Amino acid sequence: MALEKTLVLLKPCTMQRALAGEIISIFEKKGFRICGMKMMQLTDELLSEHYAHLAEKPFFQRVKDSMMTAPVVALCLEGVDAIAAVRTLAGPTNGRNAAPGTIRGSYCVSFQENIVHASDSPETAKVELARFFKPEEIFEWKQCTFDYLYANDEF
Ligand code: ADP
Repeated sequence: MALEKTLVLLKPCTMQRALAGEIISIFEKKGFRICGMKMMQLTDELLSEHYAHLAEKPFFQRVKDSMMTAPVVALCLEGVDAIAAVRTLAGPTNGRNAAPGTIRGSYCVSFQENIVHASDSPETAKVELARFFKPEEIFEWKQCTFDYLYANDEF
């Protein structure tokens, strides 16, 4: 168990469907601390890096194009085991297979238009946070709820 930071992107589909506030609220209510939050227009260059693992897939360009159709909101979230916990909350990639109660299970019916991106490992989270945030855009502040979120042997 460790306090971790992870990157979440609210995708253009989320912005277009006016769900940004609702999705941010889910992360807040779950107990993640918002350490960074910014609105950005993504570029093909940045997305080619971000989705490099999909470069050989037939849908690579289509996914990148979709991610440029509107600005996104980038979030840095912190919590104990936050990287895995946020992925669990997001649900599997294809919204049609995502369990009710997960973000993708509750808000989407698509493989591609699936509401959020969330880092998938500690190594990826580190690289992705550096890709989307400058150090001074990540804020270390003690949220007053912290002592009520975890037992003291959990972090
Ligand atoms: P995840 O976002 O769940 O970590 P991936 O890294 O595999 O999933 O893929 C990145 C994004 O590319 C997905 O969130 C989704 O928007 C899109 N994508 C992945 N696989 C497919 C697919 N088979 N068909 C359409 N879009 C896909």
